[in-house]
Amino acid sequence: MNPFAHLEEEIQSWKDAGMYRQLTEIESEQGARVVIRGKEAIQLSSNNYLGLTTHPRLRKAAIEAVEKFGAGTGSVRTIAGTFSLHEEFERKLAEFKHTEAALVFQSGFTANVGVVATILSAEDVVISDELNHASIIDGIRLTKAGRRIYKHVDMEDLEKALQETQSARMRLIVTDGVFSMDGNIAPLPQIVELAEKYNAIVMVDDAHASGVLGRNGRGTVDHFDLNGRVHIQIGTLSKAIGVLGGYVAGPKVLREYLIQRARPFLFSTSHPPAVTAACLEAVNVLLEEPEIMERLWDNARFFKEGLSRLGFNTGHSETPVTPVIIGDDALTMKFSDALFEEGVYAQGIAFPTVQKGKARVRTIVTASQTKEDLQQALAAFEKVGKELGVIS
Ligand code: PMP
Repeated sequence: MNPFAHLEEEIQSWKDAGMYRQLTEIESEQGARVVIRGKEAIQLSSNNYLGLTTHPRLRKAAIEAVEKFGAGTGSVRTIAGTFSLHEEFERKLAEFKHTEAALVFQSGFTANVGVVATILSAEDVVISDELNHASIIDGIRLTKAGRRIYKHVDMEDLEKALQETQSARMRLIVTDGVFSMDGNIAPLPQIVELAEKYNAIVMVDDAHASGVLGRNGRGTVDHFDLNGRVHIQIGTLSKAIGVLGGYVAGPKVLREYLIQRARPFLFSTSHPPAVTAACLEAVNVLLEEPEIMERLWDNARFFKEGLSRLGFNTGHSETPVTPVIIGDDALTMKFSDALFEEGVYAQGIAFPTVQKGKARVRTIVTASQTKEDLQQALAAFEKVGKELGVIS
């Protein structure tokens, strides 16, 4: 008897429906170009917005930390795994984000799950945008709080949710700062106004805005000049920061509470010294080398304009996350494969990650790419787009 027959059957059904994901092996460093199956391709699928994964200052900081402290920490933070480096980095993050305190989690995913699942109880209600990240959804699944999902960036629906939940002890409105599939920015000023009107609190997941939006990459709150009016900011250290991890920035009491109660924080070992040291150096780079962020935006504008000029549908993107919306799942995957043959790595994204009929090749240019790289990528999009009848 095969105890996994049902799993095999399900896998086969995904394959039949064209919904089976292959893992792509990167055989080089995560740079402007990467090597995949021995072939060099322009990398348009990473979240390495600023190219910091390979920045010499981060490499050096990581190596020095390994030499000084070793490879791992040997414990969770609350037992023997808090190094001076962790605390130094969290003080630095709080100062950078203009908040009282910050606390690092192993990933952005666990930061979202940890915060949402920990601070809410049955007397509370969480009010969440329907397109929020999976980690927010999983955090919500773990709480006993009431829940209300509002239509994507629909402020009327958000207000309705706030009116309907007035008896709750605390209402937590949660939104992504930048939505990862479309690259649109949440209407944070309106969300904050509604929150203030109805006495709710606001949490922003700035995974795709950390290092991308706001002064020196401080995120969506700073971008909209809302410092002090958003209660909880989640950031990731895995994307523009170039390393790994997530953090929550907010009031001291939040940090204190999470240290006592957040299960991903309490029950999982702390970041290795190399990770923390590289993240700390990345924040220094954001502060001292703002030209990297300018290069990112310059590249993003150039590439987005090029795609539009060719006649592609790039949706409502306002950030470097630029979808090329194709619609049909199979055609999108074919498009992505053909791009690779032309030396461009841009992953196709289909249902269930995005709605049926909204399949897309999602592109994210980085600060590391040259205009020649981007010209070459645009030429590949033009060739494949015409061959497959996506543009005329
Ligand atoms: N939030 C959003 C909006 C994300 O896109 C991601 C990463 N896919 C995360 C959270 C999780 O971040 P991390 O990769 O650091 O776990």
